[in-house]
Amino acid sequence: MAKHKGRGWHSRLLAAGLGVTALAAATSVWTAQADPTGGRKPEARSQEQAVTEVAADIAHASDRGPRGINITIDDGPDPVWTPQVLELLEDSGVKATFCMVGTQAKAYPELVKKVVADGHRLCDHTVSHDTAMDTKSEAYQSQQILDAERMITEASGGVRPQYYRAPGGAFTPYSRQLAASRGMRPLGWNVDTKDFEHPGVDNMVATVKSEISSGPTILFHDAGGERSETLAALREVLPWLKEQGYSFGFPVR
Ligand SMILES: [Zn+2]
Repeated sequence: MAKHKGRGWHSRLLAAGLGVTALAAATSVWTAQADPTGGRKPEARSQEQAVTEVAADIAHASDRGPRGINITIDDGPDPVWTPQVLELLEDSGVKATFCMVGTQAKAYPELVKKVVADGHRLCDHTVSHDTAMDTKSEAYQSQQILDAERMITEASGGVRPQYYRAPGGAFTPYSRQLAASRGMRPLGWNVDTKDFEHPGVDNMVATVKSEISSGPTILFHDAGGERSETLAALREVLPWLKEQGYSFGFPVR
């Protein structure tokens, strides 16, 4: 599996995200003090979802069966590109799985909530998108996965990520087991459009058409740089897939 670029970009976001974290913490303290009962609000408790362990092997199949397709959108949310991707998906009647970076979710909670409200699913894509995390300690991997899980769940208003996708596919047996114990199915991909490398719309569309026979999970990105090629490719690919008799679902859990 190719490891896409963009570490510098994510480092800058990590720094930005930490500032937002401090702001969010201050806000929640104020909220708690303003609560006249002095305790947790009932509506907050009702939004919590039970954690049920799932399988730890890497999923590729679609819950729609052999003619199902899983559209996966990674590295956001992004204030410029995510709203455009959401609009396109809504116009197309397609649900997708959004693999979010923790700092991005923390910075743009309204976008996380919009993704959920539109009927899409969430996926944990770690805190800082370290594509070498498979070479690092278990403590580091745990922090990357569990902190992002918390950041995404808080940003969504209590809706948990249902999948875990390691940055660049840098899974380890440990990280897969950890994610699975938190109800997040490890999620792979079959078709890499390589939109991160700006290959051109025609090449991205051709990649999907030629590689979709190898499996149903297609990788796109809604952050990390200019994504107009991604939007244009989706605009061509989604109708083509429908014409081929495919329907759109979610990865199996
Ligand atoms: Zn990624």
